[in-house]
Amino acid sequence: MRLIIMGPPGAGKGTQAAFIAERYGVPAISTGDIFRANVSQGTPLGLEAQRFMDAGEYVPDEVTNRMVRNRLSEDDAEAGFLLDGYPRTVAQVAELDGMIGDSGHSLDAVVVLTVDPEEIVQRLLQRALIDGRADDTEDVIRRRQEVYAEQTQPLIGVYRDRDLLVEVDGMGEVDEVTARVLKALDSISKH
Ligand code: AMP
Repeated sequence: MRLIIMGPPGAGKGTQAAFIAERYGVPAISTGDIFRANVSQGTPLGLEAQRFMDAGEYVPDEVTNRMVRNRLSEDDAEAGFLLDGYPRTVAQVAELDGMIGDSGHSLDAVVVLTVDPEEIVQRLLQRALIDGRADDTEDVIRRRQEVYAEQTQPLIGVYRDRDLLVEVDGMGEVDEVTARVLKALDSISKH
């Protein structure tokens, strides 16, 4: 399976990605996690990405695209993957199409977690208390929601037009949401 999980920051993508990836035996690839690992190791990529992340802005497409292309060329992604946090811009969609097309495959589905915006701001403020992420201050949280609405929300229409969209209610307990996602994906993988 070649899957994408989308949704605004705080929708629970990372949590659900782990369950979905396990169910389908594919790696969950989170661009945010890869960037954070690079920041904490002080790599050149991390140094380049950090100022954008700290401001709640997107890392430039060319930097992000290169990183994803490298990651998808690793052996564990050959039979499938679940992308969490990529693509996030229309230009990234085109780039990903190229990467998948080059390998002779196609996307199977794009899961979108739908949530109530105010609820997620509260969730993120809660997460800030627990994890202390540098980009979890209230101003940055609000900026990340705006950037999502401006740059990433349009991707929902793109994938809907391709008949790849699987919209799932992301509100409620984690295991309820997981059950909804897996049920929706299982019905697709049987088609
Ligand atoms: P996340 O953990 O997915 O919320 O990502 C954290 C931060 O990493 C984002 O706010 C962006 O600064 C950066 N980032 C992650 N994925 C992307 C992407 N696909 N394009 C641009 N920036 C990204």
